[in-house]
Amino acid sequence: MSHASGRHFLQIPGPTNVPDRVLRAINRPTIDHRGPEFAVLGREILSEIRTIFKTAHPVIVYPASGSGAWEASLVNTLSPGDRVLMCETGHFAVLWQQIAARLGLEAEVLPTDWRHGADPDAVEAALRDDSAHAIKAVCIVHNETSTGVASRIGELRQAIDRAQHPALFIVDTISSLASIDYRMDEWGVDVTVAGSQKGLMLPPGLAFNAVSDKALAASRNARLPKSYWSWDDMLAANKSGFFPYTPATNLLYGLRESIRMLLAEGLERVFARHRRHAEATRLAVAAWGLEVLCANPDEHSSSLTAVLMPEGHDADRFRAVVLEAFDMSLGTGLGRLAGKIFRIGHLGSFNDLMLAGTLAGVEMGLARAKVPHERGGVAAALDHLAK
Ligand code: PLP
Repeated sequence: MSHASGRHFLQIPGPTNVPDRVLRAINRPTIDHRGPEFAVLGREILSEIRTIFKTAHPVIVYPASGSGAWEASLVNTLSPGDRVLMCETGHFAVLWQQIAARLGLEAEVLPTDWRHGADPDAVEAALRDDSAHAIKAVCIVHNETSTGVASRIGELRQAIDRAQHPALFIVDTISSLASIDYRMDEWGVDVTVAGSQKGLMLPPGLAFNAVSDKALAASRNARLPKSYWSWDDMLAANKSGFFPYTPATNLLYGLRESIRMLLAEGLERVFARHRRHAEATRLAVAAWGLEVLCANPDEHSSSLTAVLMPEGHDADRFRAVVLEAFDMSLGTGLGRLAGKIFRIGHLGSFNDLMLAGTLAGVEMGLARAKVPHERGGVAAALDHLAK
């Protein structure tokens, strides 16, 4: 077997690079999850994690991937046949719709061109049309990881309020939490869906539901079947720092460490760091003469940049060249964007020199794969970073 010297560049938009501090925290003996030492860990995490969601409400932690948190958000709040309003912002929004359909919910879908976020005016109009209040929840993916477009959650909240509609507001922050400004309580979000493997800088394996009082009230009448995902069991056990079934103990050690790191840096600084890296990346893309997929400057994602390939060039072939030549993984195009875009992840544990290396790998890869482009993308990004 061949051996690649140096560090692999994991520049997909999640899972992200896990910092050494988090890896070391995970690398400890597993303890009795029903013993007193665990209760201390559980209580610290369940209290501190709320700061990351900007909520005073409970945050439920499942041993699961993000898709589990999607399912949990629906089965705990809704009943068979309920209508939900969803915006098809990209591939992940489509997958969430599929879960809703499989659960027996009726999804009313507002389309987009996959280059724009959820449109607050369209959401308002759909809710105004629903004078009988048959729509029970509005489900939005905050940061569409498949497109690099971030929907404007605060403005969507205002749209729901203008329509004076009582639907729950359920938001997927899987690739925005701890990377892009997100304010659960201020924006009146009822359920926040999240995962461990992106801004939280952990390996995959933890999924989250943060739940408002209104969501908890809805859960008392929700009739979709649930067992593993039941909020009741979780919240009852969480009161004393425990879980109703075996938690992912070692990932929770990692979570304690990542929360400490994020709070030490300060959430606003974390957001600013991501914003700056996204700006530098877009400057590089423009200098290469390539196009960013996101078409609305107010909706550029800070956690990833999706880049359109020139006509006649396959993005996956380019990604394969970059992996082979420079040991760097870039994100693939998903769903209808397969082969048409590549995605540069710049979220999680990441700094200026890592971004410089990432963009250097892209620029060298474009040359090696003979993709038509101008040189100077890295230089444009470095100028921005040096300011
Ligand atoms: N939602 C978004 C925005 C995502 O980016 C992802 C995965 O990347 C998911 C949901 C699904 O999460 P998972 O693959 O962890 O189940």
